[in-house]
Amino acid sequence: MHRRAFTVGLAAGLACPLPALAQTVGNPTAPTKAGTTYRGPNVILVRFGGGVRRAETIDAAATWAPYLRHSLAPRGTFIPDLRIDRLEGVSTSHAEGTLNLLTGRYRAYRPAAEVLSDRLEPTEPTLFEYLRRAFDIPSHEVLLVNGEDRPQEEYFTFGAGDHFGIDYRSEMLSLHRFKLYRTRMQLAESGLTDAARLALAEERARLLAIDPRGATPEPSPEVERFWARWRQGFGDDGMRNPRGDRLLTELATRAMTELKPRFMMVNYQDPDYVHWGNPSHYTRAIAVIDEGLQRLVSLADADPFYRDNTIFVITPDCGRDANPLAEVPFQHHFNSRSAHEVWAVIFGPGIAKGVVDRPVDQSAIAPTIAAAMGFTVTRAEGDAIEGAFL
Ligand SMILES: [Zn+2]
Repeated sequence: MHRRAFTVGLAAGLACPLPALAQTVGNPTAPTKAGTTYRGPNVILVRFGGGVRRAETIDAAATWAPYLRHSLAPRGTFIPDLRIDRLEGVSTSHAEGTLNLLTGRYRAYRPAAEVLSDRLEPTEPTLFEYLRRAFDIPSHEVLLVNGEDRPQEEYFTFGAGDHFGIDYRSEMLSLHRFKLYRTRMQLAESGLTDAARLALAEERARLLAIDPRGATPEPSPEVERFWARWRQGFGDDGMRNPRGDRLLTELATRAMTELKPRFMMVNYQDPDYVHWGNPSHYTRAIAVIDEGLQRLVSLADADPFYRDNTIFVITPDCGRDANPLAEVPFQHHFNSRSAHEVWAVIFGPGIAKGVVDRPVDQSAIAPTIAAAMGFTVTRAEGDAIEGAFL
């Protein structure tokens, strides 16, 4: 089934919740239209990631994410049958799924470096770029929050090639980025012994080697101040800050308070530790993301900047296999049906309440976010989800 059979284009006559919807991006290679103030809602895109199955997340009786299923899904549009299309060359994995979400396309990526085959960089514009090209939004208000041990996800802030690119990137918050900040600061501070300086220089060189693009560009002044406060609170030893997906929740909630992002993607990932063979790592990690959602949404519900002006989009990068006979269950590289089966929960101002009782394709997520924010993802393959808007 072709994905366009799943969705119907965002009707031109759609009752639009936002006056800004009239603003569209034209040719993606055309220069920016600066000076357009963004007046739409904030959007927080949560990748319920590391690959999760419907069975452990949205199955009402069996869920390990009760807050997601029982509190959040009823708040808006619940899409229990979101699918990753079975196209030639589409693999159900984390970088791929994340870039499907960010570009509204399949296979819009290429290896970022010949020596690092697991690193994909987008070859089509990402939501970050579309948004910042359409509106005058500073980089620190468009954020990607990443985990600490997925350097391959450092590539997602902007695409390769001759489209929008680096000028429209998001800022990235991750422990990797903090370490780049910390080592730069420490090397500039006085009082280091020669041995300490050498050790720091080596640490920094290792960090820079993770992403061949290095530390370019440096974070914006607002993000520098964010890291200064983070360092003040958690110190230099890395022992005091939360770890794993709890770290992402900490980064994301601090960012919401301090940077006030208009669009933020949070890339949760820890259910993927099941690759090592222990199913309880998987279900426990789902529960940890559910707790993270509770913190993010509670903060948004309480803060006047976010309350009644923030749309949440929660969806996995990919599913996982359902073969109970596999030596290590819950893998996602075998192209099984269940690895293609995901879901989405979308709620906030202007979003309809109800269950979408038909299949929707994963490539619909980016156009739906774009429609909510008032721009067009001109290079997307999918269309905004019919019925998601009031
Ligand atoms: Zn994986």
